[in-house]
Amino acid sequence: MESFLAFPELIAFDLDYTLWPFWVDTHISGEPFKLLSNGNVIDRGGFEVRLYKDVASILEFIRCYLPSTKLALASRTPEPEWASGIISKLEITPDLKKVNFLKEEFGLKESHFEPSATKKPFKEYFSSIQLYPGNKLPHFRAIQKDTSIAYDDMVFYDDEPRNIKDVNGLGVFSVLAGNGLTIPLFVESITKYISSKN
Ligand SMILES: [Mg+2]
Repeated sequence: MESFLAFPELIAFDLDYTLWPFWVDTHISGEPFKLLSNGNVIDRGGFEVRLYKDVASILEFIRCYLPSTKLALASRTPEPEWASGIISKLEITPDLKKVNFLKEEFGLKESHFEPSATKKPFKEYFSSIQLYPGNKLPHFRAIQKDTSIAYDDMVFYDDEPRNIKDVNGLGVFSVLAGNGLTIPLFVESITKYISSKN
């Protein structure tokens, strides 16, 4: 029997220390950004941009198994042009074992798109990308406008308690990702979100 779980309609992510282990404004020294053969991006100072190890597989799981869930980025980086330059170049390689693990954890059967371990542009996963300094309320107003999805149908991951507090105030189910986005945190938080809807 197929279960009909109320998955979020949108999942938004902070960038620095949520999807990747650095701050754009302090670790990155600027353009040019070059794509490496492993899909990572190197900046002018030789700093190699890579995502936390579970991120690619989580994104691919959502793309293939939760095709009605939109994805968004919300970063308050003081260097939005550098963040944007990196995002436009970065490619990701999902791990099919991890994608399959997530499918099993949520008891899903059919994929709408076939999961694939080939490199894909990171940017293409996202329906709304909001990069600018200040608190995150304008980011979420813009995401809401872009997607027409209600705040209480959204989940948000961020490593900073101040952002969690602000965005929670809008009614978004906000999750503190103190050690970055991992598969155990994703499963635990999405399960809690689903229970909160029942
Ligand atoms: Mg952060």
